[in-house]
Amino acid sequence: MAQNSFNQYCRQEADTTALAQKLASILRPLFQADQSTHLNISLKGDLGAGKTTFARHLIQALGYEGRVKSPTYTLCEPYPIQINSSNPSTATNITANHFDLYRMRDPLEWQEAGFAEHFDEPGFCLVEWPEKAEGTLPAFDIEVHLIAGDDENARNIDLKANSNQGAAVVEKLRT
Ligand code: ADP
Ligand code: MG
Repeated sequence: MAQNSFNQYCRQEADTTALAQKLASILRPLFQADQSTHLNISLKGDLGAGKTTFARHLIQALGYEGRVKSPTYTLCEPYPIQINSSNPSTATNITANHFDLYRMRDPLEWQEAGFAEHFDEPGFCLVEWPEKAEGTLPAFDIEVHLIAGDDENARNIDLKANSNQGAAVVEKLRT
């Protein structure tokens, strides 16, 4: 049976970076194998827990070379990424859509802003503060929860899969 959760204690930011990079290395072949692959990933945790930091390292590990900043004011920031860009015959274009719903005043604001289509684009959605859109968002394949540890730079990071696709990813994190 596929294990549907994975937990890692990150003593410092470099450990969080390494976990995001490992997740990137598991996602990359999925996008290469099937160009229409889409995953929804939620990022939960208090302000300052490291949700944006985790998203930034994941997006950059997949090959995005520009800045990844918090989408607090725009609600959603799309990052075009070319997977396997060194080989034109197998290169795959995906979009990482990074959401931060913290400032939403209405659970449907993300739909009114026209962001619904991002949830089936090739690539993935990363959603900070999904609680603000409770009941209106598509299901998440993976829920990431970051919790403060016993010192300033420590975090406990928990990943839970809610779909077969998510479980296959989380299972690979365990190896
Ligand atoms: P959030 O998006 O959850 O509000 P941010 O990612 O914006 O949080 O901020 C997290 C802050 O904590 C950053 O300044 C980051 O450098 C710092 N930090 C320290 N240790 C860690 C760690 N282990 N993992 C993630 N971030 C860390
Ligand atoms: Mg953030």
